[in-house]
Amino acid sequence: METPSKRPSMLPAMMTMKCPSCRKSTVFVNKSVFPLGKCLAMKDECEVCGQKMKSESNNGGGINYALTMILFFLNLCWYWPVFGLSYKDNSVLYYLVTSTIIVLIAQPYLMRLSRMIYLYLYVGFGNSRRVIIED
Ligand SMILES: [Zn+2]
Repeated sequence: METPSKRPSMLPAMMTMKCPSCRKSTVFVNKSVFPLGKCLAMKDECEVCGQKMKSESNNGGGINYALTMILFFLNLCWYWPVFGLSYKDNSVLYYLVTSTIIVLIAQPYLMRLSRMIYLYLYVGFGNSRRVIIED
């Protein structure tokens, strides 16, 4: 058994797109989300621990939807105090347009993050070589 203190902590590893099993190597081929066409390109398996990364089915879809909704809510948190929201004018419409633009810009990151959350949910720390996600 691994002692918990030896584990690199989960949240920073997840945010920096590290392997869910060893938390050392990166999951995605490109560090940056550019070029956008390849922003979801993942390594076949982790080069440090051999954890399988590839999943042909897009399992991050549902999580991506949830993250998008969270982002809309976060936008509301700053938009409301800064610009104000009222049902009497078009401010709700402006909020929706602003949020949609922000969500679209953030989408490559959200897609990556939802993949990461999915991997972290199904691959625990130290589960290397256990094939959990079949492709
Ligand atoms: Zn690994």
